[in-house]
Amino acid sequence: MFDVVVIGSGPAGYVAAIRASQLGLKTLCIEELSNDKGKPNFGGTCLNVGCIPSKSLLDSSHRYYEAKKNLSDHGIQLGDVKLDLKTMMERKDNIVSKLTGGIDGLFLTNKVESICGKGKVISKNTVQIDKADGSSEKVDAKNIIIATGSSPIEIPAASFGKHIVDSTGALAFDSVPKRLGVVGAGIIGLELGSVWSRLGSEVTVLEALEDFLPMTDTDISKESFKEFKKQGLDIQLASKVTSTKELKNLVKVKYEQKGKEIEVEFDKLIVAVGRKPNSEKVLPKNLGIKIENGFIQVNEYCQTSLENIWAVGDVVRGPMLAHKGSEEGIMVAERIANKQAEVNYDLVPNVIYSHPEIAWVGKNENELKSSGIKYKVGKFPFAASGRALAVDQSVGFVKVISDEKTDSILGVHVFGPAAAEIVQQALISMEFGSSAEDIALTMFSHPTVSEAFHEAALSVNNQAIHIGNKK
Ligand code: FAD
Ligand code: NAD
Repeated sequence: MFDVVVIGSGPAGYVAAIRASQLGLKTLCIEELSNDKGKPNFGGTCLNVGCIPSKSLLDSSHRYYEAKKNLSDHGIQLGDVKLDLKTMMERKDNIVSKLTGGIDGLFLTNKVESICGKGKVISKNTVQIDKADGSSEKVDAKNIIIATGSSPIEIPAASFGKHIVDSTGALAFDSVPKRLGVVGAGIIGLELGSVWSRLGSEVTVLEALEDFLPMTDTDISKESFKEFKKQGLDIQLASKVTSTKELKNLVKVKYEQKGKEIEVEFDKLIVAVGRKPNSEKVLPKNLGIKIENGFIQVNEYCQTSLENIWAVGDVVRGPMLAHKGSEEGIMVAERIANKQAEVNYDLVPNVIYSHPEIAWVGKNENELKSSGIKYKVGKFPFAASGRALAVDQSVGFVKVISDEKTDSILGVHVFGPAAAEIVQQALISMEFGSSAEDIALTMFSHPTVSEAFHEAALSVNNQAIHIGNKK
């Protein structure tokens, strides 16, 4: 009998398994994917076909673009800069192998047992593992953690095929498509659209909504939209794909925009319209655990209606982010070990790894207005930051929002260099209940782009030094 059986080894599942074992619980992790040795291929979407390979290509494509277009401004003359896509892809694949293989080692040192196969709960305390060779095995578990993750959504108007691909296909093109279409101007559409645009594709992004990045602060959505357009992404809002047809070497796409039907041709089409939870067939109906819109229903501690069955990561409510899943995994392992862990869902950081990055934490102005909370705003443009100018990254700003009365920081929104790192500083300060004044009274190294956070915090109370204040 295992104390804990985890189904799925993505960032939610493998982290839950490691922490459970560290806490002295006998733990098994089941992973469906196998590697070329027939062993479980750990790491889930994030390590294999998500966060890590996309960031690897974002970095390589950025370096290529800089070498080709921007280094001459720095007085650096290069010869003819050529793209070797095969090497770029091999580098990405090597990073993925290193990290997924690293989980083998982590499981070994932390004494997590593992098995390759498709796991499904068949009773309150039993999990069945269906293996690739057709055999199956049952294991008994005091506690079960479901961490089966999510998969790309396919839409009827653009079924996946040879030229119509999901994010996984878009991480592995063997040549740069001349004309690339992307359905969905969400996080994946913008990140992978940027990769291929930097490598030379003409990129058109078709977004169904009229608003661009509606979940972000309005100033960020406006400024970043202009910047993406400047970088060559042709983003068409209010554009609904109605049909697609794959021909031998291209795909024809029809979409509707303001009542007009438009037809375009692409060499490849990436469909990135969101992801759906992998909850099918993992739970039997007779246990009574509810699934709504595919999401396994859990309380704030990721516990289902059965006290020993838990679910974490993309398969439950909340943002589909690796770090959110990992924190849930740790919380559940600790709760199983009778500790009082919880996740602070109010402070989940969000990052879009474009260039420059977009990152935020906490509430934006629209959210505060609609909940009737009175607030103050301080904003500092990177154009006024010495370091941002020196490193040629002076687009964007930092915005700090604090409570009108208490000055407690309610949200921080950054579009610009090192946005993810700046937001992480803000998040740490918010976890400790910081006010804008606390940040204003803190010393920042000079010259850093983080000084923009300091100045934005000073500006909340009209004390900015390097820009004009409101009053
Ligand atoms: P997953 O990572 O999906 O892992 C689930 C695992 O369970 C898989 O290995 C699967 O094979 C296995 N599994 C499923 N069913 C079974 C079963 N029945 N039996 C056994 N095994 C099973 N998030 C970020 O925070 N930052 C990023 O930069 C980022 N970039 C991304 C880029 C792309 C292109 C994509 C697609 C996603 C990105 N994400 C990013 C999202 C992130 O990858 C997910 O939020 C995260 O992987 C979810 O973790 P998880 O453990 O819940 O599920
Ligand atoms: P998303 O929800 O970010 O964006 C999907 C976009 O597609 C939305 O703008 C939506 O309005 C649009 N859309 C939906 N249906 C459409 C249609 N029929 N035609 C045109 N547009 C349509 O989803 P995603 O980009 O697929 O990413 C999936 C998940 O992966 C996200 O929830 C995100 O959390 C995660 N992810 C995170 C990161 C990161 O943290 N940097 C990176 C990549 C992915």
